[in-house]
Amino acid sequence: MTTQTATRFASAAPAAPVGVAAPRVGIRSRREPWTLAATTVIWLTSLFVVALWVAGAGVQSLVGWGGEMLTTLGRLTGLVSANLLLYQVLLMARVPLFERGFGRDAITRMHRWVGFWSFWLLLAHIALLVAGYSVTADINPVAQAWDFVWNYPGMLLATAGTALLVLVVVTSIRRARRRLRYESWHLLHLYGYLGVGLAIPHMLWTGADFLAHPLATVYWWMMWGATAAAVVVFRVGLPLWRSWRHDIRVHSVSRDGRSGVAVRMRGKRLQKLGARGGQFFVWRFVDGPGWTRGHPFSLAADPSGGDLVIAATMVGDGTRRLASLRPGTRVLIEGPYGHMTGEARQGRKLLLLGAGAGVSPLVSILESEPYGPGEATLITRDHSGEDALRTDAIAELVRRRGLRHFQLVGQRRTDGSTWLPAVHADWRGADLIRHLAADLDDYDVFVCGPLPWMSALRADLAAAGVRPARIHTEAFAI
Ligand SMILES: Cc1cc2nc3c(=O)[nH]c(=O)nc-3n(C[C@H](O)[C@H](O)[C@H](O)COP(=O)(O)OP(=O)(O)OC[C@H]3O[C@@H](n4cnc5c(N)ncnc54)[C@H](O)[C@@H]3O)c2cc1C
Repeated sequence: MTTQTATRFASAAPAAPVGVAAPRVGIRSRREPWTLAATTVIWLTSLFVVALWVAGAGVQSLVGWGGEMLTTLGRLTGLVSANLLLYQVLLMARVPLFERGFGRDAITRMHRWVGFWSFWLLLAHIALLVAGYSVTADINPVAQAWDFVWNYPGMLLATAGTALLVLVVVTSIRRARRRLRYESWHLLHLYGYLGVGLAIPHMLWTGADFLAHPLATVYWWMMWGATAAAVVVFRVGLPLWRSWRHDIRVHSVSRDGRSGVAVRMRGKRLQKLGARGGQFFVWRFVDGPGWTRGHPFSLAADPSGGDLVIAATMVGDGTRRLASLRPGTRVLIEGPYGHMTGEARQGRKLLLLGAGAGVSPLVSILESEPYGPGEATLITRDHSGEDALRTDAIAELVRRRGLRHFQLVGQRRTDGSTWLPAVHADWRGADLIRHLAADLDDYDVFVCGPLPWMSALRADLAAAGVRPARIHTEAFAI
């Protein structure tokens, strides 16, 4: 018996399992070449942009205080901001190079970071150019700003674009975002694309660094063109084509625990999707008004068998609606996405920790990955046992594959290791991890759940000595 509702952690020997798979020792992650390629592309293009500024006598213009220096700094901040804005769009365009190289979690973090810097550099660009031109022409900065907006080609559009970007940034500030429904926030956020689009003409019509050298003009046209094409192809074209090609339909819907629902889907040649355990799709169920709102759900079972299964905790309209889906309902997909798959493995053993619905992708990883009996340990965290998802699938893994399963239930601890329930107040989280996975160097750790739970757990994993490269995560948040 290896599922334990853990009030004490006995070291459990697995029951005699079947289907022992080949162990994997000391392998390099298959993700590394993608990460290297994606990082190289970003660095090369960023350096190229700075090189264009240097070639345009940017450095020389920095000597001495005055209008020219302010203007050249304005040009530099504008160039870097434009390049970052371009990456803002590209990173969210689901381009396979970035998806595989960085993973969704890292991309979401980068999106926030790049968004912050591109916005502030954009404001600096505006302020520096207004200051630089007004010093050179010896006129009032307000009059100079007015002159820019009304008399320079493309500037009226750029002003409208800036206003839209300000709207996107303001509504993304945490406090403002909490007040908005996810759907409203998302809709406003999409205005960012329009904002970026409106800013382009002024760069191409008036930007000295865009026009100075044919190489610069080619670079910017190419980058903007590639970005627009990436959005059209990867966010619209490919999902529509995949949905049509695979003709996915709801096969069955069942309850999963007290407050969960599982949906099984079938379609044509689903193996050709290339989905892996641990990945997620954005799903749209064409079941009536409101179907256009997509929701991300992870695969809750190994997809190589041909069926696609998701399991969700019912928290709002979108998830409750899953429970009333009828067999035969058409399903549109975007994906597969996500980085938290067996491809990331470097060690032989697996430690998987999931909270709430976070257990779903972990189960699909456990079903699809090779490991021997006792080499995989799953820790699930729920407020109560009745809320737990995927319990049947986990029991099957325990019985057939020799999975060790520990179930942590109850109220959250309020001090120290808050990822543990209060009944384990006597444990330091890091000690518990070392106790359950004594030979930690052999392990890859997969973590999925709400952000605060994950960050408390990450701190304890680090304290236990797990190297960051061995921790693979997917947060159920964007
Ligand atoms: C990569 C990823 C994988 C996920 N996998 C699963 C899973 O396997 N099982 C599961 O139960 N849940 C999963 N979720 C969470 C799930 O997408 C949300 O709980 C669901 O969209 C909530 O919709 P709602 O209308 O029921 O609730 P709402 O009341 O509208 O929202 C509840 C919460 O979910 C967030 N949310 C709402 N819509 C979305 C959306 N389209 N995208 C992202 N967040 C949203 C809101 O910000 C809010 O915090 C996943 C989320 C992400 C980002």
